[in-house]
Amino acid sequence: MYATYVNTHTKEMRDRVYELQAKIMREDIQRMILHKQKSSLAIALSITNDKSLIELIKHKKIPSDYYADLISMFHKETLYQNVWIQIIDENSTCLYRSWSPLKGDTLFQEREDLQDITSKKSIVQSISTGKFDLSMKSIVPLFEHNTFIGSLGVITHFNSISKDLKETKIDSVVLLKKEYKKNLLYPFTQMFLDDYYIANLDAPLEMQEYLKKYGVENYFNNAYKIENGYIIVSYELKNTHAKALGYYIMFKKISDLPKLDLEFFSFKMIAFFILFGLGLLFIFSTIILVKNRNQKQYYKNILDSSNNIVIINNGTKILYVNNAFFRYFHTYQSLEEFKEDYQCICELFVNEDGYLQTMHGDDYWVDYVLKNCDKVHKAKIIYLDKTYYFSVTAALISVEKHHFSIVFSDITKEENYQKELLQLSIKDSLTGINNRHFFDQKLLEECSRVRRYEHPLSLIMFDIDFFKRVNDEHGHSVGDNVLIEYSKLISTILRKTDVFCRIGGEEFIIILPHTAISEAKQLAQKLRYEVEIAKKVVPVTMSFGVTQYQKDDSTLSLLKRVDDALYKAKANGRNCVFTD
Ligand code: GH3
Ligand code: MG
Ligand code: MG
Repeated sequence: MYATYVNTHTKEMRDRVYELQAKIMREDIQRMILHKQKSSLAIALSITNDKSLIELIKHKKIPSDYYADLISMFHKETLYQNVWIQIIDENSTCLYRSWSPLKGDTLFQEREDLQDITSKKSIVQSISTGKFDLSMKSIVPLFEHNTFIGSLGVITHFNSISKDLKETKIDSVVLLKKEYKKNLLYPFTQMFLDDYYIANLDAPLEMQEYLKKYGVENYFNNAYKIENGYIIVSYELKNTHAKALGYYIMFKKISDLPKLDLEFFSFKMIAFFILFGLGLLFIFSTIILVKNRNQKQYYKNILDSSNNIVIINNGTKILYVNNAFFRYFHTYQSLEEFKEDYQCICELFVNEDGYLQTMHGDDYWVDYVLKNCDKVHKAKIIYLDKTYYFSVTAALISVEKHHFSIVFSDITKEENYQKELLQLSIKDSLTGINNRHFFDQKLLEECSRVRRYEHPLSLIMFDIDFFKRVNDEHGHSVGDNVLIEYSKLISTILRKTDVFCRIGGEEFIIILPHTAISEAKQLAQKLRYEVEIAKKVVPVTMSFGVTQYQKDDSTLSLLKRVDDALYKAKANGRNCVFTD
């Protein structure tokens, strides 16, 4: 009986997990690209603040090593291992490439992002392809006395994204569509798959061969596939005109799902947010240190373009918040108004396990975050009935003034996904009670607890009598409703500590910690009676087996005994309770 676990709902649940997994992977990659563009925009904005650059562009003479020191500093000191800088004049003629001596060529035809910047004369963040690569670009227009004189682009590659994903057991192949191959005069990676350029240097050979074998085009559909032990998710890389330039194709082994996913997911998201947060903290400390008013305003503008909340305080009082703060706490127009109601953002923290509290032992939350900077800190905030989750990073930015900057990065979506995934992996999709997977884990846990503390533990296993007849006479969906309604009824009778699980089609088990067999038997008799008189949907009865954990039991021997007891109840005419 126990062994005949009916798999009907398992497939459905697995499909939902795959679908959710694919959605997460696709949204993840989208977010990683966006964040990369935003942080490279911050770099672009910072370096275009240089007045001598305008002069050099006007005279169309930029020394070939102009940004060499800056780029090598990026390489040494930051996460930007391979940043390229490109300067273009007002006619889209290239004046400077940090990675190549090539200049004087006109890019207007092949680069739609440059056509955009020429016509709109405002910041453009794009994915684009030209003579060298398929890459992400943040381009800032440059003006002299309101006249457009050209633009500066900071270019980043897909390598760092695929490297991050690799740590979480996702292999990536980034492909440029073949119609753009003709423009690629100097392909950066020199790697091709048939006529498709591979834009990430670390694309594993195994995956390249896989795509070749099964046909690259089959993965150019912005969908996901489950095949040969992989979940394969493709994400369309579009330019600013919504034209697909290529595809980001991700491979993850099914065997690494779903348990690992939860871990990978939080690890990656949080790591990512922390790194991004550190970038903001860097800019923030610059604001404090920079004396020049214009420059100050300039860095403030960068902070205001961030989606993360940035707060500066002096340990007890908030001194400054960026614009993002008011997107969340939108009933306030200014920091002063907010401070009339709250001293500290921590007054809005929800007191829940795993999230930041105002005090952690003797430490104020800011000190706690600073002291434990190797840990991930999350805050849960409810404001006007909306729940938000944030990852929180903090840094000391002025020792003598005791100023701190704190970055709150919104991880609401990720937290909700995690919760949804967790639910999917432990709940039965039909009845909403715990599923077999959860039962197996919980039983192991309870058995080892009993071995340590020697308190009693009992099990009740039960099965609907002649359930086949219910299906035959009333149809499968009525059968389903019987399962739903009677599960609800039984849930209302049980105590909070009882663990109610559906372990097969119409077979259930209740784990009863701290309960001896006599008490368990009484409960089973009560359940039998309540089921018999309920007459919900269609009247049914159930048979019950009861047993108690005995010294030296394994989970298997315990389960076998309760299964035998249920078998006896069935053999003895059903609608009754038997102990082993
Ligand atoms: P017994 O008293 O011996 O338990 O008789 P029974 O008819 O209940 O016996 P059996 O275990 O052979 O049949 C169980 C039936 O439950 C078979 C299957 O069609 C049905 N079933 C299993 N899962 C579901 C489900 O999710 N929904 C519906 N409607 N029926 C299910
Ligand atoms: Mg049955
Ligand atoms: Mg059965």
